[in-house]
Amino acid sequence: MPIQKTLSIIKPDAVARNLIGIINHEFESRGLKIIAQKMIKISIEQASMFYYIHKDRPFFNELIHNISSGPVVVQVLEGENGILKNREIMGATDPKNAEDWTIRAKYAKSIDENSVHGSDSEESAKNEISFFFSDIEIYNR
Ligand code: UDP
Repeated sequence: MPIQKTLSIIKPDAVARNLIGIINHEFESRGLKIIAQKMIKISIEQASMFYYIHKDRPFFNELIHNISSGPVVVQVLEGENGILKNREIMGATDPKNAEDWTIRAKYAKSIDENSVHGSDSEESAKNEISFFFSDIEIYNR
């Protein structure tokens, strides 16, 4: 299986509830390595660029408001099949539909405050990582 990097965000609802450590443990205990990590506050402008693909969706305004409502932890995770593996560990977008063992089932408050973001393809992983990180900030073996 290929070793892949993916962009993860621990969203404001989870940071506000002191869940950074426990969510990092979910990743690390399931074989993903944290190879870059920083805490930032995303502005509304940055959020609308990051989520541009969702600009016509009815939940867009709420989405950019939520992601910029407080500090987030942006991180690069790496592992075998890392993009899909992270999506599995996150669980379904709506925590009501997420499997019991996943981050969203255990910690998300609702579909709009669902604790984590993860890239959904190789192309989005590449774009999303470079949106937040320069090469020098990422550990490369
Ligand atoms: N979202 C929302 N309402 C919806 C669908 C999505 O607030 O009805 C938010 C939710 O926080 C989700 C984000 O928009 O994580 C991006 O949606 P996507 O379908 O890409 O889900 P994800 O890839 O995060 O599982």
